[in-house]
Amino acid sequence: MARKHVNQGRAPAKADLPEKVCAACGRPFSWRKKWARDWENVRYCSDRCRGAGAKA
Ligand SMILES: [Zn+2]
Repeated sequence: MARKHVNQGRAPAKADLPEKVCAACGRPFSWRKKWARDWENVRYCSDRCRGAGAKA
């Protein structure tokens, strides 16, 4: 019997992390360590979305 990793794409600890919805692409994204100090101000899931969404 072959053993495979079944939990692809599933991260149990992820449930504990706060989530937001990206203001650019509309997709939910989870807290990341790099945002630890600036989570309140994070509005985009990536720098790419920030560039796309930051129209001023
Ligand atoms: Zn996004």
